[in-house]
Amino acid sequence: MSASGTPIANPSSRPRILTGDTPTGSLHLGHWIGSVRRRVEIQSTHECYFLLANMHAFTTRVEESASIRRDTIEIVRDYLAMGIDPEQSAITLQSEVPAIAELTFLFAMLLPFNRVMRNPTLKTEIELKGLGDKFAFGFPLYAVGQTADILAFRAVSVPVGEDQVPHLELTREVARRFNQVFCGVPTDIEDHEHVQHGGVFPVPLADVGKVGRLMGIDGKNKMSKSLGNAIMIADSAKEVQKKVNKIFTGRQSPTEPGDTSNALFQFVECFITDQARVAELKDKYSRGDNIGDGHIKAEVAEAINALLAPMRERRAMYEGEGSDARIIDIIMDGTRRANRLCEETLLMAKQAAGLRFWPRELRLG
Ligand code: ATP
Ligand code: MG
Repeated sequence: MSASGTPIANPSSRPRILTGDTPTGSLHLGHWIGSVRRRVEIQSTHECYFLLANMHAFTTRVEESASIRRDTIEIVRDYLAMGIDPEQSAITLQSEVPAIAELTFLFAMLLPFNRVMRNPTLKTEIELKGLGDKFAFGFPLYAVGQTADILAFRAVSVPVGEDQVPHLELTREVARRFNQVFCGVPTDIEDHEHVQHGGVFPVPLADVGKVGRLMGIDGKNKMSKSLGNAIMIADSAKEVQKKVNKIFTGRQSPTEPGDTSNALFQFVECFITDQARVAELKDKYSRGDNIGDGHIKAEVAEAINALLAPMRERRAMYEGEGSDARIIDIIMDGTRRANRLCEETLLMAKQAAGLRFWPRELRLG
């Protein structure tokens, strides 16, 4: 709505989605499998916003602001390499969308503190990243912030990896509670009917792909930027081969029957496109039919390199002199589009919560 109360964000008939990435490093195959592949598929049929969650990167990297800035740009290079089209999808910089920060504050009032701390993704992150009891106040706050990231866009669906499902559950709780407390939506209304009954926020769905969690080359943990177990989108063919060779299976010999639920076979299933070959490899491996891990790894590396080759070519178009400035232009354009929508959401939310005392319009970008 504009200050005078008329809608300004041109409501598209396409379903709206929001998802994003934290600039804690560049992107890897886990991002491709868990989220970006899906984004590329749906960007022409959905209204897409992809958020660069740079504020959230400060939760664990407050002393590394220069790296956060560099990683933010690198992630966009990865997006473009992977086939995200900035004309169709709005690539958005979180720190330049003030409505998200304002909504975070408001939503923090709707969530019991202990409910936030019970979030299993936060608990796992605290453990895996060795944060102990020294983490910043902003660390648990980022889980609340993520509810604002999604709801500011009034997204109906969020393509994410499995680890994000608890965050989505929290977001759904905030949407329901906001709609019930401030918009008079009765408590027995189904999630998909909240907006019809006057709620500001759709209760969004998590869109988890077929592979919600790609393992890292340590064969143990989720592939993750922060854990040093990732094959990066920008890795060279040689680096890919080297890293694939490191995938840990614990298997000793080519005649030992292997476990096809291990990390290596997750890579086989995710990256070897010839399904007959996948079935053949599985059969031989599980019987220990003279097939060594080294042989399988060579096929996996070849398949990953076939996937990454066109991405490397596209990436090259956004490298070199002047390319950072071009990328910043792309982000600025996406953020402008996002701000039109998010300011509208903020106004609706403030109106519902009795926080709108006079019209305001910010000049953004
Ligand atoms: P960090 O280690 O800093 O948490 P990350 O590698 O987990 O980084 P995020 O920025 O937290 O990456 O995640 C961005 C998106 O990519 C989320 O939707 C997340 O679920 C998805 N994702 C990240 N890693 C994987 C993975 N290994 N498998 C599937 N999806 C993943
Ligand atoms: Mg993560």
